[in-house]
Amino acid sequence: MESYRVQIARLYERSPFYRNKLRAAGFASPGAVGGLERIAELPFTEKDELRASQAAHPPLGSHAAIDIAQAARIYSSSGTSGAPLYIPLTRNDVEQWREIGRRTYSRNGLKAGERVVTTYGAGPFVAGASLTAFEAIGAVHIPVGVGNTEKLLAAVELLQPEALACTPSYALHIAEVAAAGGVSLAPIERIIVGGEPGGGEAWFRNKLQAAFGAKVYEIMGIGDIAASLWGECPAQEGMHFSAEEFIHVELIDPDSGEPKALQDGQTGELVYTHLRREAAPLLRFRSRDQVQVWSSRCGCGSTALRVRCIGRTDDMLIVRGVNVFPSALREVVARFQPRVTGAIQIRPRARGVRQQPPLPVLIEGDASLADTIAREIRGSLTFTPEVRMVAPKSLPRSDYKSKLVDFSDAT
Ligand SMILES: [Zn+2]
Repeated sequence: MESYRVQIARLYERSPFYRNKLRAAGFASPGAVGGLERIAELPFTEKDELRASQAAHPPLGSHAAIDIAQAARIYSSSGTSGAPLYIPLTRNDVEQWREIGRRTYSRNGLKAGERVVTTYGAGPFVAGASLTAFEAIGAVHIPVGVGNTEKLLAAVELLQPEALACTPSYALHIAEVAAAGGVSLAPIERIIVGGEPGGGEAWFRNKLQAAFGAKVYEIMGIGDIAASLWGECPAQEGMHFSAEEFIHVELIDPDSGEPKALQDGQTGELVYTHLRREAAPLLRFRSRDQVQVWSSRCGCGSTALRVRCIGRTDDMLIVRGVNVFPSALREVVARFQPRVTGAIQIRPRARGVRQQPPLPVLIEGDASLADTIAREIRGSLTFTPEVRMVAPKSLPRSDYKSKLVDFSDAT
């Protein structure tokens, strides 16, 4: 692809970080890098490298390919550790995000004239950039902000929106508050969820769909690459990749780093390369998002690559050699609905990724189920949990992201 060769040449010229990195990997010039078919020979880019680059070469880091005066917007990453990582965009980059956002959010059928109520915070984080997607579609956007469920329900009653966009955990919270207050959610036909895993888990989706009497469609992006990248269609068979000419996507084995074929059922970590980004283009950026992919024709007729999120490698724990994704654990627990609510929280005893069994897990639901659920988890996920049943609605439901792992008991 020509845009890739142009991008590589530009990085050699303007990004000291990539010029040095590629030379150190044995690629003396853009010509030596070659075309997109050889991309797997190049080194990965890790988030920690970007942080180090920015710390050593403020303000934007030596990976940036522009002077700060050429930026049109500078977002901050929502990372939890240390200083924020700044993500600059040029005017053209902002336009690209808007176009990708338009495609991802309209995949589900959202169209001009439809009312959509959102709880995204505009603020410094890239999630705010998705707001322009609604403008691009021509939807009637009703932002109510984060953290005021009463206000949101008032907007639903008075403005009768056809769509709601928020995180899946907050959507569940809205349904619970509406049910308790006798507020009808009948106007809402589509619930567009993103920002955390959950919207792709069958049990969670079914629960939301039943509570709202509406369809759930998932969206996924990653701040360092684009605010939204994947959007689900009415067939509800996964999220379609929606940035083909802007971003190259690969699947890798997260342990070995080896490429994996993009074919039906394959699982691995997503790796992204910016083909047209101007401000801070990234090469083979490791997303830490674990997904399952499908490349065959979807029920909607599209052959655009589809994914379902399995979890974040960042959230993953390793219990005596077994990889444990919190969202996978939640899916196993959900088999016991309605005797459980579906809410869980993992409370590790030690800091860090590696844990000794039994792994403490709090589960909302019927106290008599503890042993049965523990057996099911051992059978399905091959690690030993220490199940503690807690009362329904006692675990936190956040406005923004629900935390499935809480280290406050860890020593
Ligand atoms: Zn489709």
